[in-house]
Amino acid sequence: SKDIRKLDTDVDKMRIRRKDSEHLKVKENVFDEATLKALYDLARKGVIESLGGSISTGKEANVFLAEGKDKNIALKIYRISSSTFNSMDEYIRGDPRFSNIRHKKKDIIFAWTKKEYRNLMRARECGIAAPRPIDTHKNILAMEFIGEGDKPYPLLKEVKLSEQSAQTIFGTIIHYLEILYNEAKLVHGDLSEYNILLDPSTLEPYLIDMGQSVTLEHPSANDFLKRDIRNLTRHFKKYGIQPDEEELLRIITEK
Ligand code: ATP
Ligand code: MN
Repeated sequence: SKDIRKLDTDVDKMRIRRKDSEHLKVKENVFDEATLKALYDLARKGVIESLGGSISTGKEANVFLAEGKDKNIALKIYRISSSTFNSMDEYIRGDPRFSNIRHKKKDIIFAWTKKEYRNLMRARECGIAAPRPIDTHKNILAMEFIGEGDKPYPLLKEVKLSEQSAQTIFGTIIHYLEILYNEAKLVHGDLSEYNILLDPSTLEPYLIDMGQSVTLEHPSANDFLKRDIRNLTRHFKKYGIQPDEEELLRIITEK
């Protein structure tokens, strides 16, 4: 109960009423005690000034809008407890043989969060349009908010383009894949119209969701790249863009 009181104080400091946080916990399944604590750490550090609404609830993470120092930021919060894990936990808790399991799972998630931070950093350093990573702590990645006001830019999936705009955007993305491969030495690994945000006024495509991106040494790097190319060409086909996938692979990798 002392722990609970401590948590209550932390929650108050985050200006999230306990009732709200429990509501969020049920609804979004992200604000477990450890995540609240991590959010509080980031607030105390000055990275987060206040928490905004939910932008997305994905398979492994939730993305929230937040106020940063003097601008909006996006918080990607990897879920520590998936629903299946919760039911497992009921059986595992209190059994000394499993005292390690929760920590191991957490460590993997924390490492994954750091990996996304580093991948974004590497991509940005090479001049690719991607959210600038701001900080990473436990299962939380704080990054530049890609959007206008409080509204994220639309996914490539959601926009209708003229054939000419599509051509330009496709060219930019292929150029980014070249840089990603040759300079950042990375393959995105989950590239598709679902992981590209588009600035509708400048037509700049932003590559997002780089947790799974791998270095070129990864045994599946080339297969991932082929799949990324296939996803892209599949999407752009409707705009009359039908490049040869083998040729694209050569352009990207044989520089
Ligand atoms: P999914 O499981 O659906 O692929 P995810 O959990 O892998 O999602 P992301 O793809 O990184 O997470 O982000 C989910 C959504 O959150 C994006 O589609 C986008 O709408 C929004 N989003 C992510 N990062 C940002 C950002 N930096 N700025 C604005 N919106 C963002
Ligand atoms: Mn995604």
